[in-house]
Amino acid sequence: MAFINKIGKKIGNVAGSAADKAKDLAETTKLNASISSEEKQINQYYLEIGKIMFEHEKDNPNSPVAEQIGKILASQQTIAEIKAKIAEIKTDNDVSVPNTCPNCQTENSGNSKFCPNCGTPFPDQ
Ligand SMILES: [Zn+2]
Repeated sequence: MAFINKIGKKIGNVAGSAADKAKDLAETTKLNASISSEEKQINQYYLEIGKIMFEHEKDNPNSPVAEQIGKILASQQTIAEIKAKIAEIKTDNDVSVPNTCPNCQTENSGNSKFCPNCGTPFPDQ
């Protein structure tokens, strides 16, 4: 009968623990949030370590992180090229917009929308 009693006790525990279960779940959720918060902190420190390592190791070809450093340097190079391209586009636009009156060729010295000489609208800038 000890076996039967044991089962009865188990069922009783399960049935009686509905409220406890909700409480446990809330507690577990809270604890998991704490873990997430700690992990976020760790990732932030990994990032800081990485930046320090990068500065420290970027000229060392035998560095254990040489591969990653190479990828960062390549990305930085790509960014520089893209920025140069953007600057080029901006310069092209500046040149292509005539800054004189299309009617009397008076120069638009300020940001006027109309020619001060003949009143013709200046082209959009
Ligand atoms: Zn004009």
